[in-house]
Amino acid sequence: MKVSAFLIFGAPGSGKGTVGAKLSSAVGIKHLSTGDIFRGLSPASESGKLFSNYAGAGKLVPDEVTIQIFSRYVNGLIDTNKFDPEKSSFLLDGIPRTVAQAELIKSVVDVKHVFVLDIPDYSIIVERLLKRAKIEGRKDDADENVIRARLNEYETKTAAVLGAYDSSIITRINGAQDHDEVFLDTLSAYVKAKQNK
Ligand code: ADP
Repeated sequence: MKVSAFLIFGAPGSGKGTVGAKLSSAVGIKHLSTGDIFRGLSPASESGKLFSNYAGAGKLVPDEVTIQIFSRYVNGLIDTNKFDPEKSSFLLDGIPRTVAQAELIKSVVDVKHVFVLDIPDYSIIVERLLKRAKIEGRKDDADENVIRARLNEYETKTAAVLGAYDSSIITRINGAQDHDEVFLDTLSAYVKAKQNK
């Protein structure tokens, strides 16, 4: 059976993680961030090393490995009763990030709605990520060259993913607003999406 999912979409630093956590606790859907899953891998494992090489350079992890790790994680949640696909939905944050990933998950993930956090002004993003580096200690946030590489990956590989979904299930949200406003807009888009289904 397919799992149903809402997607939270946007450039690095657009606030996906922050709004994702708030929305998931407000409405009871399971927030799943592929960045968090990758960062949770043991650094000594093969996948952990692979992740740190790619992420350290601001590059996306190759599609096959990404889908393999993601599927293993989701199946683990289902097998251990932490997620019941018949009762709940996922809020996916950070996947799919390429058109190929969107294709690969299509047979198992039923995308209900896509929330896009728009921040056209990249200087806001760079500022946010450099600030986050000081708070969370993420190496990929601390180096402006790596941030630029991630934004480039977003523009050249990720932005096109939106084309895989019907425009009727996409809502654009102004991600440059303050966190509460972004959350309110996302919550309201979620409620509308549920009503229209
Ligand atoms: P951000 O959105 O701020 O870049 P994430 O935590 O979502 O941060 O991702 C961190 C890194 O994890 C990415 O730069 C990339 O290397 C890797 N990553 C996360 N999700 C994916 C994905 N779906 N496909 C490939 N790589 C991914």
